[in-house]
Amino acid sequence: MIKLNNIHKSYEMGSSKLHVLKGIDLEIEQGEFVSIMGSSGSGKSTLLNILGMLDNYDEGSYHLAGKLIANMSEKKAARLRNEMVGFVFQSFNLISFKNAMENVALPLYYQGVSRKKRNVMAMEYLDKLGLKPWAEHMPNEMSGGQKQRVAIARALISKPKIILADEPTGALDTTTSYEVMEILKEINEIGITVIIVTHEHDIAAMTQKIVRLKDGRIHEVIRNGELSEFRYKYSKELQPA
Ligand code: ADP
Ligand code: MG
Repeated sequence: MIKLNNIHKSYEMGSSKLHVLKGIDLEIEQGEFVSIMGSSGSGKSTLLNILGMLDNYDEGSYHLAGKLIANMSEKKAARLRNEMVGFVFQSFNLISFKNAMENVALPLYYQGVSRKKRNVMAMEYLDKLGLKPWAEHMPNEMSGGQKQRVAIARALISKPKIILADEPTGALDTTTSYEVMEILKEINEIGITVIIVTHEHDIAAMTQKIVRLKDGRIHEVIRNGELSEFRYKYSKELQPA
């Protein structure tokens, strides 16, 4: 589904360059549940944005579903993004002056779907996420967990093949974080590829594959069978002295 070959990415910083990704090779199969870890500034969001075609890379190649993703017009990238990817963010990114149903329906508006059909579908997705009674509520009337569920419903409504979530639990308490992870797990179980960025080991340990970034490179990939070992290793590391 996803194949990255020697991906490089730099940002211009005045007269100098900040080399953020220094040759990333990564393959992700359809239906995998993956987390990307790494310290702050290690390039996790940059990588996720490249995967989601929100940002370009400088060198290497990115194939998505067999298609080379490079040098596309914004229009073409937007169409492919709509077709393939749903995004979830730490800060939910809901529109504050639209209610839950309108927020969920938004991607369909951009696809030119009629209002009636948009609303019917939005209600269906709100219902799937247990939020039907909240349809008419505004984001500021909802808890963090509810807002993230609205954002997940919005990400799902265009029937994406991939969900990309940048620190989806970063603004949530522990209990709510696990609830959101359970939802992402269910989404993955129906065949959607789910890729999250997180810096929390317990959250990462709920995925099937952990990709650790360090100094712009993939430092380590930890697979399903090794997760308990991973959990043990880091719980020891994280224990207060
Ligand atoms: P992470 O998500 O792992 O914290 P990011 O991918 O957001 O890291 O950022 C990696 C590095 O690139 C950071 O040093 C950040 O300041 C820098 N960076 C990110 N986006 C930009 C940008 N648009 N312009 C310049 N520098 C950026
Ligand atoms: Mg980030």
